[in-house]
Amino acid sequence: MSTAPKTPSPAAGQRAAPPSFDLVLFGGTGDLAMRKLLPALYRRFADGQVAADARIIGVARATLSREGYQAKAEEACRQFLGDAFLAGTWAGFARHLWYVRLDATTAADYRGLADQLAMRPDVVRIFFLSTAPDLFAAICHELATAGIVTPNSRIMLEKPLGEDSASASRINDTVGAMASERQIYRIDHYLGKETVQNLLALRFGNTLFEPLWRRGHIRHVQVTVAEQLGVESRGDFYDRTGALRDMVQNHLLQLVCILAMEAPATSAADAVRDEKLKVLRALRPMGAAEALVKTVRGQYRAGIVGAGRVEGYLEETGVHAASRTETFVAIKAEVDTWRWAGVPFYLRTGKRLHEHVAEIVITFEQIPHSIFDGPFGSQPPNRLVIRLQPEEFITLRILAKSPGEAMRLKPVDLALDLGESFKARPLEAYERLLGDAIQGNLTLFMRRDEVEAAWNWIDPIRAAWDADDDRPRPYAAGSWGPAAASALIARDGFAWHDEQ
Ligand code: NAP
Repeated sequence: MSTAPKTPSPAAGQRAAPPSFDLVLFGGTGDLAMRKLLPALYRRFADGQVAADARIIGVARATLSREGYQAKAEEACRQFLGDAFLAGTWAGFARHLWYVRLDATTAADYRGLADQLAMRPDVVRIFFLSTAPDLFAAICHELATAGIVTPNSRIMLEKPLGEDSASASRINDTVGAMASERQIYRIDHYLGKETVQNLLALRFGNTLFEPLWRRGHIRHVQVTVAEQLGVESRGDFYDRTGALRDMVQNHLLQLVCILAMEAPATSAADAVRDEKLKVLRALRPMGAAEALVKTVRGQYRAGIVGAGRVEGYLEETGVHAASRTETFVAIKAEVDTWRWAGVPFYLRTGKRLHEHVAEIVITFEQIPHSIFDGPFGSQPPNRLVIRLQPEEFITLRILAKSPGEAMRLKPVDLALDLGESFKARPLEAYERLLGDAIQGNLTLFMRRDEVEAAWNWIDPIRAAWDADDDRPRPYAAGSWGPAAASALIARDGFAWHDEQ
């Protein structure tokens, strides 16, 4: 039995009766499960969105009793939910938690899981693969062999989906051998963010923007995903991956898709995904020479981030002392379509940067002629800022007359604070994505051809870097990255948003 919801509810419209499910959480004791997935499921429960008989079955190699797993999950939820954690609600949620000890590579271990699942053969089954990707193949093989993938089953895959086009295809082939494409939910948690969905609402729910959303009206687009964090405990993983694969191939390109796609006929999953795919296929490919001109790689050195001194990337645990892995990337991308020809998309992401911020900045064209005093072009153009984190808001910079006798124009921001406007708690990305998977809605998940098209654009850039003798450019932790990133955009006469 569920207890009554206690936390503030998300907006109305999420209120369909929740279907029952068995969610098998591979990697159920891992960092992602503890920090994000279980807290997200707790919030679903607190909002009355977990059916009374639903089961969440954590799976890992550690020997744990059901109570032991519940206690571990409680500790994590207390820590990561803060004020949203309520002991009374927890008691109800904990009744949904189960644990099965299982080594993903050992066939015999799947018997216990099969027995658990056999109790409810017809219910929606979700296998969430929150383990290192090198276990995906073994898990898929053993699940299929154990005969526990029913037509009602869904497979959720965490990034990274491969490290290049070939390895992504292998993962997709493996998963595809056990489940059809409509059963596969590839996560890019940026798509679960409320503001990213609001970008769709802004573009396709209003008449105001869409006529201007093109060359001729938009001068350039910037997408920045900046972290203050370093590699934390994941030095070994990160050193094999780098910012291009870790962030650009998935999060940044998905944002470009949402920004640049044509209007889909409906919001149905394949209608949206067809349009996103066209954007990925229209990204101008980069040859080796072009890649070195249109991209900048950086690697952080020791510096000051926030109030504290931090060490450089090469001193991090798990990182090779002579590593050439990039912790920063800036790219000038172009989308070769009638809509976007000539409009640069500047992408930038990195670790140990000055601020923790993710935002999209759309700068419109200058007015064609000024009727006001002052040199033409001296006023800043209209600008739309979509902030994804740490806060979620949208602002539109317009010019207005400043009070007084003289006709002086000053920029002012029209600000849309979604939390304030709707007086409702927005869903966290993983809440949304887990909820959508339970409901069977694939719209915010990546299709196989999208993932592979993204890798096809990334692979030549990677190859150009590998063939180049230059090392990533050093930048001080706490800065905005190497100076070359500013030069990349300054060559076109623009500046990054934080430099304006
Ligand atoms: P993690 O903390 O290392 O957890 C790995 C989990 O897998 C643990 O529960 C571990 O438990 C289990 N595991 C390892 N080997 C196993 C085996 N042979 N059989 C069964 N279970 C096994 O990793 P994570 O940070 O949670 O990341 C999980 C996945 O999500 C990775 O692919 C990662 O790249 C991705 N991801 C993570 C984050 C994040 O913020 N953490 C963000 C985005 C994507 P036992 O050792 O007890 O078996």
